[in-house]
Amino acid sequence: MKQPNNQHTDRFEIAKVCPVCGSCRLQRKFHVRHVIDDPQRACALELGFAGATVVACRECSFLFKLQQPNAADLHEHYAESGEDYLVSLAEEHSGIREDFRVARQLLTEAFHKGGTILDIGCASGFFLESLGGNWERFGIELFHLAAERARKRPGLSIRECDLVTAKFPAQSFDVICSFDVLEHLPSPTPIFREARRILRPGGWLLLGTGDSGSLTARLAGSRWTYLCLPEHLSFFNSNSLRKGLAKAGFSVSRFERIHHGERSRSVATGWMRGVGKHWAIELFGENIIRLGLFRQKTTEFLVPYFFDHMICVAK
Ligand SMILES: [Zn+2]
Repeated sequence: MKQPNNQHTDRFEIAKVCPVCGSCRLQRKFHVRHVIDDPQRACALELGFAGATVVACRECSFLFKLQQPNAADLHEHYAESGEDYLVSLAEEHSGIREDFRVARQLLTEAFHKGGTILDIGCASGFFLESLGGNWERFGIELFHLAAERARKRPGLSIRECDLVTAKFPAQSFDVICSFDVLEHLPSPTPIFREARRILRPGGWLLLGTGDSGSLTARLAGSRWTYLCLPEHLSFFNSNSLRKGLAKAGFSVSRFERIHHGERSRSVATGWMRGVGKHWAIELFGENIIRLGLFRQKTTEFLVPYFFDHMICVAK
């Protein structure tokens, strides 16, 4: 990994139009401070920014960061990420990866005999492997360490590249899936167009990402954890995702709201505490913290994930 360097302010670009619909009717929503005290998140400084302005498109309601790291830096960052980042994906932790469980169930119901599937950003290939040998399984992954691990799993064909440069032949796949990838892309729509080209007629595009229309996202505002991870750049809700997919020729057949992470009483109480504290500060100002109502006397906290992810199936 490169050494953190906050002098690289020339390394990001300022987005001028909505990457989903092309509109220039943008509304500033809030400034977010990136999580940088976690070693995995030091990339915020490597990529040249410790915070960002989140804007909303007035046409399609897509949310995105105005400051976008350049493609070469992002590519290098993902290629060189380490073991800690791979562990943080918790691929094999079924209590955390509700997205995998829901997706597997949907695919098993719709494709009894399996088929040909491509996983965009397949990490170490756990999801592909878990589908079983009925499926002809392909994955692409930019993260070198993850791709190496995926190659060790039997029955998977893995390439280290992005979707557009992979240049798969037209109509190659029955299913294209992608989990936790869209939010990392400065411009998510090219993969929709490429997915349309390489999917067979009637094939499925199955996507998992955060939901900026969820109650958590709306209540947590600038303190929604999802916005504050420096590698997250793009934030769909069901409306903007539907519009982005429609532009590429897809129609959405299903949305499922899902939780990401452990389901426990402590997660629920942590969420309630975070939302309550956030709104106390929004309504009464930062001095409310001094009154001793809250366990921790800091205004720097985040509202954790709570039913704020979604699975979308488009055809
Ligand atoms: Zn838009």
